[in-house]
Amino acid sequence: MSELQRVTVLAGGVGGARFTRGLLAHLEDAYPDGTGGSRVAVTVVVNTGDDMTLNGLRVCPDLDTVMYTLGGGISEEQGWGRDDESRRVSGEIAAYGRGWDWFTLGDLDLGTHIVRTELLRDGATLSEATEYLCRRWKPAARLLPMSDQPVETQVRVGEAVDEHPAGALIHFEEWWVRYRAHVPATEFVQRGLEQATAAPGVIEAILDADVVILPPSNPVVSVGTILNVPGIRDAVRQTAAHVVGVSPIIGGAAVRGMADACLTVIGVETSAQGVGLHYGARRTKSAGLIDGWLVDETDADAVPHLAEAGIRARAVPLWMRDVPATARMAADALELAFE
Ligand code: GDP
Ligand code: CA
Repeated sequence: MSELQRVTVLAGGVGGARFTRGLLAHLEDAYPDGTGGSRVAVTVVVNTGDDMTLNGLRVCPDLDTVMYTLGGGISEEQGWGRDDESRRVSGEIAAYGRGWDWFTLGDLDLGTHIVRTELLRDGATLSEATEYLCRRWKPAARLLPMSDQPVETQVRVGEAVDEHPAGALIHFEEWWVRYRAHVPATEFVQRGLEQATAAPGVIEAILDADVVILPPSNPVVSVGTILNVPGIRDAVRQTAAHVVGVSPIIGGAAVRGMADACLTVIGVETSAQGVGLHYGARRTKSAGLIDGWLVDETDADAVPHLAEAGIRARAVPLWMRDVPATARMAADALELAFE
């Protein structure tokens, strides 16, 4: 593995951020640069389909989760948002009858959104605004939004709920956070996708990588959204890099959150095997995306079935309990890539 120089991760929020933190810890150990960092360059391409404008501010939940997690500012208990957070400003906004009682923006977090919104209003692209914000947090990886154009994941609700009639399209975060994915959904729509292009550096980061990793992020509304940006899926298919994924499903359930609800909407079985087959094997007639797929130890019986489909699989512990455990997962993913 001495040739390892560049790794690219396609990430959503919490799952992608935690995995990448473990990956960086492993690389610092295994490929030290002598100054506490790693000589392996890591690029994280982040989903922006969950982005919203709230109270006039541009909020990018997944970019912020990755930036805070890699920069040491994350709330460990929540997995998203700032540590040592307060909510006074949200209370004031609510007192005016504005805002969303189901989506709270913390005071410290608002600082990020204000600066980002100012940069965008002054003409910066989202890539440029992200780079600017990262100068403060100094993540040991390059963070790229999947696209500089707005793409919004919406959910078509199958039945009427509150002010929304049956068949209405609502923002993904409203379905996810307000309704906890309990309202039946019939489809996901990614508005703006056709006009969107991959952000500068994204396609190159995939094509020039030695390893591309699909971390344990939501396969539908995180990784799936990134792959749907024109050009990105083809780049993953065509790259000379080894492409490996890590299952976000353990023992038939989403480890955290409600990823099963998303898989059900697109007709994919909630299992490590189901998601692996959904991504599909590269270099086969089915023209899938992955060479290798890590499943949890409890899903070891999926390994031969995946192998039959042309996917090299291996069963290892996949609980991101802490950074060392996650670093071992990342080491396993890299090992599988070069097997
Ligand atoms: P979000 O944008 O914040 O929802 O985060 P992601 O899309 O990046 O990741 C969410 C997914 O991470 C969830 O659907 C879980 O299936 C997965 N996940 C969370 N914690 C773990 C863990 O410890 N191990 C594994 N294998 N998957 C996890
Ligand atoms: Ca997300």
